[in-house]
Amino acid sequence: MNQVRVNRRAEGRLGAGHLWIYASDVVDAGQAGPGEAVRVVNEKGRFLGIAHYSSASQIRLRLLTREERPIDRAFFLERLRAAIEFRRAVVADSDACRLVHAEADLLPALIVDQYGAHLAVQFLDQGMDRAAPLIAGCLCELLSPASILARNDVAVRRLEELPLEPLALHGEPPAQAEIRMNGLALAVDLQRGQKTGAFLDQRENYVAAARWARGRGLDLFTCQGGFALHAARRCETVEAVDSSAPALEIAAENARRNRIANIVWREANAFDYLTGLAAARRQFDWIVIDPPAFAKSRANLEAAMRGYRDLNYKALKILAPGGVLVTCSCSHHVSEADLLQLVASAGLDAGRTLRVLERRTQAADHPILLTVPETHYLKCLILQTL
Ligand code: SAH
Repeated sequence: MNQVRVNRRAEGRLGAGHLWIYASDVVDAGQAGPGEAVRVVNEKGRFLGIAHYSSASQIRLRLLTREERPIDRAFFLERLRAAIEFRRAVVADSDACRLVHAEADLLPALIVDQYGAHLAVQFLDQGMDRAAPLIAGCLCELLSPASILARNDVAVRRLEELPLEPLALHGEPPAQAEIRMNGLALAVDLQRGQKTGAFLDQRENYVAAARWARGRGLDLFTCQGGFALHAARRCETVEAVDSSAPALEIAAENARRNRIANIVWREANAFDYLTGLAAARRQFDWIVIDPPAFAKSRANLEAAMRGYRDLNYKALKILAPGGVLVTCSCSHHVSEADLLQLVASAGLDAGRTLRVLERRTQAADHPILLTVPETHYLKCLILQTL
């Protein structure tokens, strides 16, 4: 194995439980090639662990293990088996879930999602990309899936100088998969859907949010209808808004499939739509806000916070007395404290007194590694107006 020497700052970072080492903290990369598993040593040559090396990304090394061992079939089988075992314990009422959540399963840059008999995977760094055939072989051995699709059409691969194309690794991945989730039968667009097809991370929040649903519901950024479909049976009507027509088509198909007829799907910009609702003096008893990540990096955090605040303010203005607001952020850079604060401030401006019913996060099959804060990205607050 090639050896990469890192400085004291990198050593401190690993010592604090993180798995990443930045390019600026690499002292000598030796002969390390793109995507190789390398020995990581400190300035004095002491062994720190084995990591995947990237020749392109600012994240130059991602730690795979702190033990001296080969990164081979046995390694991947062991890690994948542990990850799958964990999901058996935490996933209920769904045949779709995340089997591998990258760093949080000690498999940095690897995503494996299950949709019934089909798997959708993402290799997000050079190391995992290079190990793709090995990993696909292990997944076949452990799960005997009908197909495996690599959804490699994801922007972060650009940082690794990797191609952005989906790739069938096993079997014939269908255009759509049918899954069962919380008692609903849902079609998922495996080839073009966002993420790997669905927002599996909201699975538990759908149920939690639906418990508070009643009267007139509004689901903003509905995508394929996740929150709206879960709430429909408890609401008189639900209006569900998204800017993506293809996503709404699947949403409407899913409503028909489950004999749900009280959702109206609206293709619109959610900000403008909210303005229109306020002008028409409409009110709602249950509102969900689940926008895309506004803060992609720390650099645009301030603008992102303004966006979230504006949305929450507009939603609170049309929330009926006693109504419930479910508000989410999937930006890692926006902390739960940030979100609580901006909603509090939006509430004051909107003249609403708010009580926190629940403070939630991503579903348990998307675990959070305590010492890698980046693995905690989703925040979901459920609030009620008094
Ligand atoms: N709530 C969904 C996930 C939402 S993801 C679920 O649980 O499945 C974010 C969605 O916001 C995407 O579907 C995207 O099409 C939509 N979107 C992005 N910008 C928008 C805008 N300005 N107005 C309305 N929808 C928008």
